[in-house]
Amino acid sequence: MIRVKKVSRPKEIPLTEKLYLVEIAKGLAVTMNHFLKNLTNPRSIPTIDYPEVKRPVPPRFRGRHRLTKRPDGTPKCVACYCCATACPAVCITIEAGEHPDPQIEKYPVRFDIDMLRCIYCGMCVDACPEDAIRMDTGWYTVPERNREDLVYTIDMLLSD
Ligand code: SF4
Ligand code: SF4
Repeated sequence: MIRVKKVSRPKEIPLTEKLYLVEIAKGLAVTMNHFLKNLTNPRSIPTIDYPEVKRPVPPRFRGRHRLTKRPDGTPKCVACYCCATACPAVCITIEAGEHPDPQIEKYPVRFDIDMLRCIYCGMCVDACPEDAIRMDTGWYTVPERNREDLVYTIDMLLSD
């Protein structure tokens, strides 16, 4: 036996709903309510005046990288390639040079990070045996106008 399923007809929409006037008035009331609340108590506004005001970041937030320095201002990095090897995004390029100090074997002649590829995983920081690279700048405003500016050079990474 074939069963016929009964389908109920949609109820007729009243004219007031068809005109959306009541719904528009309700929407405007919600907007006005928020507008007046924010006008009388601006501190309750959940937004900030970015970019003039920036949100504080948690202590463990991974921001833009920096290279740490020795007391004489030279990079702590010994160009061991551990960070570049650990980087899953292959975005670190290092060229090693002979350090003038015989106590230090090498130093980075070139140290670039391609921020277009970086995924902010922090593995480069974890892999470094010299504490020479950190992501503690709290800097999250990385957009630039062209792609070339997003390859951070050693000078940028060493700058304060
Ligand atoms: S944070 Fe991750 S992806 Fe970015 S440079 Fe370091 S290891 Fe590579
Ligand atoms: S930043 Fe650290 S891990 Fe990377 S090359 Fe320099 S010393 Fe090695």
